[in-house]
Amino acid sequence: MLTATNSRPIHRSCWKGWLPCAVTVFGLWWMAGCTPMDPPQDEPAGGGTEVQEEVSQAQQPKTCQDPDARWSYQGATGPDHWSELSRCFGLCDAGDEQSPIDLEIGTSSPLPQLSFAYRPAPLRLHHKDHTVTVEHDSKSALDFGEMSFRLRQLHFHAPSEHTRQGEESPLEMHLVHSSTGGSLAVVAVFIEPGEDNVALAGIWNHLPTIPGDPFEVPETDIDTAALLPASKASYRYSGSLTTPPCGEDVRWIVLAEAITLSQEKIDAFTALYGGNRRPIQPRGARQVLSDL
Ligand SMILES: [Zn+2]
Repeated sequence: MLTATNSRPIHRSCWKGWLPCAVTVFGLWWMAGCTPMDPPQDEPAGGGTEVQEEVSQAQQPKTCQDPDARWSYQGATGPDHWSELSRCFGLCDAGDEQSPIDLEIGTSSPLPQLSFAYRPAPLRLHHKDHTVTVEHDSKSALDFGEMSFRLRQLHFHAPSEHTRQGEESPLEMHLVHSSTGGSLAVVAVFIEPGEDNVALAGIWNHLPTIPGDPFEVPETDIDTAALLPASKASYRYSGSLTTPPCGEDVRWIVLAEAITLSQEKIDAFTALYGGNRRPIQPRGARQVLSDL
């Protein structure tokens, strides 16, 4: 079993050059639900990303503070320049396990079963930075192996950040979880045009059009479990936050089956937030495992 203090160095050095080791460590990591790795050390507590803000509220990791840093998805503050915008954003350029990536057919492997214990929660929305975030009350859980995570928030990207053999989807939903030990796990769900989605209606009916403070929609719950596809077959790999500060050691679980949403609602989201995706990052020596 790797320990909290030595897991990251072993993990990272193996990725860089010793493929069998990488496979072994990654397999152990998933199979044994190894000891949570240290949270990224150089992430700001706020101002950089809605994800990090949520994480910092949950676990208060050691962070790199730069609340004034502003980033975007284009031009001088776009992804090509993120690492130049703050000393806290260095991993956006220097990291070697960045997300998103293109997903090919993953290496088939028996993986710990995903156990979702999602519960309805009051609908609390926040238009912050470059997406709408649905803040969660943390009573929903995701377990796999020996690891247990709490759902902190979910948000969307248009078009999708991950691709499958080069193919993108119009939308991608990210469900962001953290453990009490500071590990992060993000479940990604592709959203394709099709039958409308009742579970998403509450969000879409109240999409904030301008950035502002979080607000709760009265007498409205979100049935988060209903947002997941029937099949939980997935791709899994080790990556990063897809927004600055691009912190690594994020467990990515990309569900293979997409959910659907009406074209009208996809267009409505894209009109408000479209283009909020980071370009594909090099996969490098990382293995993508799957139980498809
Ligand atoms: Zn995201």
